[in-house]
Amino acid sequence: MNAPLPAPARENRPEGRRPGLIERGLIRKMMQPAHVTRVERLPGPFVIVDLAGPAVEGAHWGPGQRASLIFDQSLAGRTYTPFGWSRRADGVRFLFHIHGKGLASEWAWEVGKGATCGLVGPAASIDPPAAGTARLLFGDETSIATALSAGLDETRGRQCVFEADDVSGLRQTLAAVGLQDAHVIARRADMAHLAEVQPLLARAGAEDGLALTGNARSIQRLHRMRGPSFAVRTKAYWSQGKSGLT
Ligand SMILES: Cc1cc2nc3c(=O)[nH]c(=O)nc-3n(C[C@H](O)[C@H](O)[C@H](O)COP(=O)(O)OP(=O)(O)OC[C@H]3O[C@@H](n4cnc5c(N)ncnc54)[C@H](O)[C@@H]3O)c2cc1C
Repeated sequence: MNAPLPAPARENRPEGRRPGLIERGLIRKMMQPAHVTRVERLPGPFVIVDLAGPAVEGAHWGPGQRASLIFDQSLAGRTYTPFGWSRRADGVRFLFHIHGKGLASEWAWEVGKGATCGLVGPAASIDPPAAGTARLLFGDETSIATALSAGLDETRGRQCVFEADDVSGLRQTLAAVGLQDAHVIARRADMAHLAEVQPLLARAGAEDGLALTGNARSIQRLHRMRGPSFAVRTKAYWSQGKSGLT
């Protein structure tokens, strides 16, 4: 039996974004079935779910992509970052941050081997830094898979800067997936922690580049602090009060 979901409980969670009639028709056409072959609980509110099936085998997986996962008849999709695809492309992994307020978070907390879901994708999303370069990845609890998809565990996460609610908890999680040298900075509601992040990111010069992912508000603020640059790529993964960004 799984531990209870991080608050709020299922009955209090917001309804979330649900697709309309036309969107549901499109999703039905594009969606392919996938099944869960393995579930791995990481330290803290994180779960890795391995998927397999024809949709997985036929796809061309690559770093920084996105895929939409569909969990029930509502056909409401949630976007996740594939990583850990095998050489034969017969399996792919997704790492869920269990924030406890949504459909996807709840599904991943409760899912077991043999369960099924729908898969749409993969599609291009962000170009993450390649391992061993001077490029950096900024993100948060939702960006761990992005780092892994780019092979940043090869250099123990040295090219990653993550903001987090629970710094020591996230460090444990990162160590469990091979990103133990990543910088982790405590998130503050007033965003004052980004002043600490900025000098770390300043290392990524215009020619080297930076990928900003995770919380839309942090990305916006950091982008403003650094000024416009062609070498900065951004992709918001979630935004307070919004559901199911793609
Ligand atoms: C391109 C892309 C790639 C992504 N990759 C990953 C990934 O690999 N791993 C991952 O964990 N997430 C990833 N995300 C983020 C994930 O899609 C969102 O967190 C999504 O909202 C989760 O769906 P849900 O059903 O749990 O919550 P929703 O029903 O979508 O949202 C319910 C409420 O929870 C809030 N919320 C959503 N996410 C968070 C959060 N992380 N922390 C706090 N509050 C939150 C929302 O603002 C909303 O108020 C990615 C998003 C995008 C766009």
